[in-house]
This record gives sequence, C-alpha cells and structure tokens, in this order.
Amino acid sequence: MFDSITGSIKNAVNKIRHKDDVASLKKAITELKKSLLKADVHHKTTKDLITAIELETKRLGIGQDSFLKALRNELSNVLTTQGNQGFVFSSTPPTTILMTGLQGSGKTTTTGKLANYLKLRKKKVLVAAADLQRLAAVEQLKQIAAQVEVDIYYDDNEKDPIKIALAAKEKATKELYDVLLIDTAGRLAIDEELMLQLENVRNAVSPDEIFYVADSLTGHDATKTATTFKEKIGIDGVILSKYDGDTKGGVAISIAHQVGVPLRFIGIGEKMPDLEVFIPDRIVSRLMGAGDIEGLAEKTSAVIDEKKAKAVTKKIKKGEFNFNDFLDQLSMMSKLGSMKSIIGMIPGLSGMSSQLKDMDLENSDEIKNIKALIGSMTPKERETPSLMNTSRKKRIAKGCGLSEVQINKILKQFKNASKMAKKLSSKGGMKGMQNMLN
Ligand code: GDP
Repeated sequence: MFDSITGSIKNAVNKIRHKDDVASLKKAITELKKSLLKADVHHKTTKDLITAIELETKRLGIGQDSFLKALRNELSNVLTTQGNQGFVFSSTPPTTILMTGLQGSGKTTTTGKLANYLKLRKKKVLVAAADLQRLAAVEQLKQIAAQVEVDIYYDDNEKDPIKIALAAKEKATKELYDVLLIDTAGRLAIDEELMLQLENVRNAVSPDEIFYVADSLTGHDATKTATTFKEKIGIDGVILSKYDGDTKGGVAISIAHQVGVPLRFIGIGEKMPDLEVFIPDRIVSRLMGAGDIEGLAEKTSAVIDEKKAKAVTKKIKKGEFNFNDFLDQLSMMSKLGSMKSIIGMIPGLSGMSSQLKDMDLENSDEIKNIKALIGSMTPKERETPSLMNTSRKKRIAKGCGLSEVQINKILKQFKNASKMAKKLSSKGGMKGMQNMLN
C-alpha cells in the first residue's frame, strides 16, 4: 500500500552515517522532503513535517534511531486530528449518520462496508437509499444490504431524498435500530444544488455525524473537496476510500493536516470487509514498513473469533507462533478481504504487497506451496518449528513435491515473519523497526 513512501523513508534513514553528523541529517531531510512531495503530501504539510522532524532529531541527538523516532512522532502528530476515531454511538439511538461524497468516490460501497462493520459488532443497522442522483445507486445499495444482511429503507416511488431520509429515521426510531446510515446523493463535482440538498437533508434528520467519503486516488483534489464539504455542510469525519490503490499514501497525511477533520476509517479494497478504523499510530507503523499486528488481530477477531485472534497475537509476542497457527491464519485470511491489505499488516511481509497485485489467495502457487509443505509435516513438527533439520526437510520435500530450496525459502519467510512480529511487539519496538528498515 505504501511501498514508495516506505522505500523512501528507508533511503532517507540510510543517509545518516554517523552520530551528530549535521550534514548527513540535512541529506536525509532533503531525501524525505522529496519523497513526501512525491507521495502527494501537500507542500505546506511537508514543510511543517520536515521542519519538526529536523528540530526533534537534533534535540534527541542526531542518529538513525532519533531520526526514526522523530519521524514516527511527527507523522503521528500530523495524523492525530482532534476528534473521534472509528464509530461513535449516540446515547439516544438510532445513531444517525449522513454518508456524503462525490459520485464515484465509493460512498455507496462504504455505506455497505460500515453497515457490515457494525453488524459484525452486533448492532442493528438500517441503511437508507437517499441517493436518487445516480441511477443505479438505490439498486446497488439493495444488493449490498442483502449481501451484508442488514435492513434497507427505500421507496422507488419517492423522488424527494428528504422524505426518504425522514421516513427512514422514523422507521429506525420506531423499530429500535442502533444505527441508521443514510446514503446521500453525489455529483461529479461540487455544485450548489448538491450542497443545498445535503443541507436540507441534514436539517431534516439532524444526524449525529456527517461522514465524507474521499477517494484517495484523487490526490490533492481529495483534500480540496473535503475542505469545501466541511465549510458548506460541516463534516465530522473523513473516510478515505481506495487506499489500497494509493501507492503513494500521502493523501491521508494531507487531509489530516489541511482539513482539520479526523480521518475515521479507511477503505482498503472493494469487498465488504475491506474497511478499517483509522488509527494514526498504526498507519505510521505501516508507512514505515513495520506492519500492524494489532490491526491484523482486530480485523481477525471481528471476522472470526476474538479469543482465538488474541491467543494468536499473544503467541506471536511470545515467539511461539507455529505452523498450525500459520495455516489457521492463511485459511482465515480469505475471509478478511483483500490479500494486499492483509500482507501490508504482517511485519516482515509488508514489502511484498506490491508483488501481490493480482494475487488470488485460493489459487496462488505460493499459498498452495505453503499449504503443501505444512501438510507434509508431522503434528509435532507443526507445533514446534524449531524441530526442522536437514533430514526432516528432505522427508518433507519428498512428501510435498517441493525442492529443498523452495522449502528453505518458505521456512525462512515463516521464521522472519515470526521474528519480526515478536521484535515489534516487545518493548524495543523502535529498535525492531530500525532493524527491519535496515
Ligand atoms: P459512489 O458513486 O460514491 O456511491 O461510488 P461506489 O460506491 O459505486 O464506488 C465506486 C467504485 O469504487 C466501485 O467500483 C467500488 O467497488 C470502488 N471502491 C469503493 N471503495 C473502494 C476501496 O476502498 N478500494 C477499492 N479498490 N475500490 C473501492
């Protein structure tokens, strides 16, 4: 997801050769500035960021360690906008949310993803089809609602979105729904008519919050339109869609800094589970190429079994992650949404995500090989990865039809992943990250 920015950070860090070397810090800062601008970070944001990072690195004492620490802190500062994270429930249900955004931004899809997210958390959700602008929007929302198994309010004979929103709110209140998500009209570009309609819907239903869905792929435009929506109708949160396709990753940094509205969620794929709460520190970890164990565990626990996911995280932390867990994780992954987003969260594998553009989890050779390899192990070997030795590998190679080179490669990947994960989750997280970057 953030391949280019992650790679540039590594280059910048490597410019610092010696402790207290001011000239090399300058080089690192210049490199970082270039890469932030290239990653679509707004020039003002870039300037503020690098000034703060330079000062902080000097304050801590110039070195690779302090540069990384300063970078991490300042990125986190920029991404942490005053306000809420994730979803906030009103004390008087139904929590009513207006979903707004330009046409094609992913608003209707995101409405479905949010409904799915809430449903998985045992909430009673009603979605309302008040986007009467785009011809297929109502039909699309019907399909999505059926797919994620939530109720939908629509009225094919009604042309007034305000009436639809009001009727949906009445239904949601009467029938004790926890959450009402109202999909509103979009336009190809901002226009007065759209803003007026949104204002009217807002005034009619008094939503608890207004979410603005911004398309990451529109780069600087995403920041501009979010600002206009904020000024005209007032937005409480931004959901960044299509973050999976944004190899630059800088738009999140710009929106947080320039718009001044918290990023609440990010969309990371076309499927319904491909939505994540935006947590600044986690995004920073991923920007820096260090994976996101907590995010992975959280996603896992929502889709599958919370207890099991926690146990696996614990095992990773203790360095007891074994081949059975590995296999378990692989089979769970298909339920978790897009492969690329998952890989980006696994420490040690985040760099692989660019090679996985078209990876089909069920049919990829790599995954098949891993499954075949583990399938040829004895139960004891699966439980205890340290048992692997040359003679066992030879036997397994015969069993699964892979070469010893292939086996060694997979075993090394497994070992690296569990080592990185352990390092990162221990207290010396910074050190672990630096080692990884090096
Ligand atoms: P709307 O006009 O704003 O309601 O847009 P849609 O919800 O119809 O989405 C437009 C397109 O973007 C659809 O093809 C979606 O599948 C796609 N899309 C939405 N969110 C994401 C995302 O997070 N990642 C990717 N890759 N595609 C997305």
